[in-house]
Amino acid sequence: MALTPAQIRLIDEQAHAARALWNLLHDWWTMLAKHQRSLAAADAAIRQARKEIEWLAVLPAQAAQAVLKTYYQAWKNCWEGRAHPPTFKARFHTVMSVDIPQGRDLQITRVHRRWGMVTIPKVGRVRFRWTKDLPAGAKADAGNRITGARLVKDALGWHVAFRVQTLHPMPEPHQGPQVGIDAGVSVPLALSDGNHHTHEQWRSTCDKSNAWLTGREQATLLALERRAAHRKSLRKQGERTSHRLRATYDRIASLRARAKRRAIDWQHQTTTEIARTYGVIVVEDLAITNMVTSAKGTVEAPGKNVAQKSGLNRSINQEAWGRTVTMLTYKAARYGGVLHKVPAPGTSQRCSACGFTIPGSRQSQAVFACKNPGCGWRGNADHNAARNILHLYRMGLALVPAAGRAVVRRARRVKPATAR
Ligand SMILES: [Zn+2]
Repeated sequence: MALTPAQIRLIDEQAHAARALWNLLHDWWTMLAKHQRSLAAADAAIRQARKEIEWLAVLPAQAAQAVLKTYYQAWKNCWEGRAHPPTFKARFHTVMSVDIPQGRDLQITRVHRRWGMVTIPKVGRVRFRWTKDLPAGAKADAGNRITGARLVKDALGWHVAFRVQTLHPMPEPHQGPQVGIDAGVSVPLALSDGNHHTHEQWRSTCDKSNAWLTGREQATLLALERRAAHRKSLRKQGERTSHRLRATYDRIASLRARAKRRAIDWQHQTTTEIARTYGVIVVEDLAITNMVTSAKGTVEAPGKNVAQKSGLNRSINQEAWGRTVTMLTYKAARYGGVLHKVPAPGTSQRCSACGFTIPGSRQSQAVFACKNPGCGWRGNADHNAARNILHLYRMGLALVPAAGRAVVRRARRVKPATAR
């Protein structure tokens, strides 16, 4: 969005109010006795708080309702075993965002080939970059319309994301082949049929945030990081962060945001191609709660021996992998295909040719050479893992969602010789 400084301040205030409301709500909710906690009681409390607390009123009523809805959903995710309980949101570690849960007052118009106008509650008309065809104005009807929006801030500023409802004919079932996909070490995505999806920037150091930057950008980032570290070392304890240091931090953040956008763009292009080509896509399942408390730890308390603990030392980090799976899920459905998940353990150690798991078969991160004297299969380790993932699916070991929880439907244990 193209905003004036005054508009930026207004939306910033709304985002801070939304986060504060979440924290107040969490405080109130956890203080109550269990039988008193209900959606209706929370709704009444929020209405009262908005009347009594002046700075909460900057948040539009709709956005306040959206905070409650998200908070309640967070508890539901916890009760149904998908996530940890909700927690307080810290000022500096929370993505700033404001929900606009209804689309009827947005009044979107296109004013230029590349620009549109939208009405943001309590801010007014603002311009935004028209990057995707939107069902607005004459193009909108009962089936195709905008049902809401969300404002999100990153290092490059405020963005608006529209929630769109469109009518699509049911796709024909996809007749394409089956494929297993592994988040690889020597390539970002390894496919069981031997295809790889990689990108030019790919290095063995792809887990670093700067892998998506050009040589010159990487050099700039390094210089900025050194400058920031130097300035920080000169700062006395208790002294406030200087404007210069803050400006350096902002430039670092904007370079990292650029790298992240490039990574997401690549993921979109790759997953679309995969969903177009294959009818059945099989990936390994990674437990969500494990992702939250990964070996990496948090910014304040980094984990120890991270490289060893992350086991395969995956170059594609788990957040990126989770996003890939999300994209594949909805894109496969769009093209009439289907995505299955299989339990993860052992896929990188087992030989996909003979079915034996012999220690030491995986010679290095990239090379797999079977130690079974009767087999001796040799090949790319990621390719091997992808073939194992497809094999697990063909054995009927897919995870089936049951009552909101993923459970393993176990096939009878099969001897390695027949499991080939
Ligand atoms: Zn083998």
